[in-house]
Amino acid sequence: MSIQVIVEKCTGCTLCIKTCPFDAIRMAEKKAVIDLNKCTLCGACVPACKFKAILLEKTPAKCDLPDTKGYKGIWVFIEQKKGKVQSVGYELLGKAQELSKKLSCDVSAVLIGHRMDDQLDEVVWHGADTIYLVEAPELANFQDEPYTNILIKLVQKYKPEVLLCGATSIGRSLISRVAIGIKAGLTADCTGLDIDPEKKILLQTRPAFGGNIMATIISPNYRPQMATVRHKVMQPMPSDKKRKGKIVRESFDGSLYVSRTKLLDIVDEVESLVNLAEADIIVSGGRGLGGPEHFKMLEELAHVLGAAVGSSRAAVDSGWMPYSHQVGQTGRTVSPKIYIACGISGQIQHLVGMQSSKIIIAINKDPEAPIFKVATYGIVGDLFQVVPALTKRFKEVLRK
Ligand code: FAD
Repeated sequence: MSIQVIVEKCTGCTLCIKTCPFDAIRMAEKKAVIDLNKCTLCGACVPACKFKAILLEKTPAKCDLPDTKGYKGIWVFIEQKKGKVQSVGYELLGKAQELSKKLSCDVSAVLIGHRMDDQLDEVVWHGADTIYLVEAPELANFQDEPYTNILIKLVQKYKPEVLLCGATSIGRSLISRVAIGIKAGLTADCTGLDIDPEKKILLQTRPAFGGNIMATIISPNYRPQMATVRHKVMQPMPSDKKRKGKIVRESFDGSLYVSRTKLLDIVDEVESLVNLAEADIIVSGGRGLGGPEHFKMLEELAHVLGAAVGSSRAAVDSGWMPYSHQVGQTGRTVSPKIYIACGISGQIQHLVGMQSSKIIIAINKDPEAPIFKVATYGIVGDLFQVVPALTKRFKEVLRK
């Protein structure tokens, strides 16, 4: 872009000086002069000049789109920790299998680690038609640089159409680097994935604008189409021991495995209570509880049911529960068999973290509360009566 004053047309009226937000125009011998060190080419002066004496030339942006032909298949990056495949990988394989039917393609897993042989069958049984396996002692544990280098090389060699990865701390760190490396788009934290029936491209749905809308994002011009999905959002397919898969072993030049960071130790996260993400039953409380002391009531119900206690952000922000219990967009995503929401209104940011639960039981005194729209069973009533009554009855029935 360039800007210039057409001296013959300039009358020295100074209108442009008044409109320039960057103080970039001055008068010299009754003609406007633009200081290009200050000018940001914002163009505010152009319509201000009644004499059309300022010319702003815009060079059309040039963007050479890459060739997307030849990309085929859905890939899932399979995360492993200490040599054990993490379940988010199985969840993504399940979704990938579903999508592959609409794209008529295969599903492949990418597994990087060391001595992973005992894990390969499970990966195939959970939906991988092919496993691209890269093993080396220095790859035993995740490290950004080597894993990124390897995944980029594999993508460049085999050209998958879609690449999915868990929105875990490993996945987030890895896949953003890969996206930059191969100049592809990336949609983080998707809650839904589908295929456009006509264009055959990936539809990536995720909450946007603070969770106020659900946006469906496409990546039509770049390949692979890349998305991350949180743990427990997708369902794994049942392990099918009859499935057969192909193993493609790859190895690369050792220089690719070099890392500028050094892994000193792996310290397991200490969970003070039942692990929310793994719990079969969750009893969750929100602002409706009215204070931290009332979470005791939920803990009693949880104890009888062998459940974990969750909470809404409102309860966490009020200091009633620690953040590690928060369910929702900025907390944990959970998918238990039973989710009991007590005094939680059901705002979208909470729902995205629990709506894939198999059975949702909502207890709320407001019959119009949005939580009832997703609830399997709804109890309209005062939780201070309903919850103790449930605890009492479950104690009797379960003989606890
Ligand atoms: P409220 O919306 O105040 O609802 C309280 C409910 O309790 C009401 O429905 C009321 O009818 C009911 N109630 C009151 N008294 C009783 C009673 N005695 N018996 C029965 N029912 C009763 N929220 C999350 O939960 N998780 C997140 O991860 C999250 N992330 C967010 C991220 C962003 C960017 C933003 C902007 C917001 C986020 N929120 C999140 C906040 C979210 O928008 C809501 O504010 C929050 O979920 C509300 O919590 P709540 O349902 O406990 O409270």
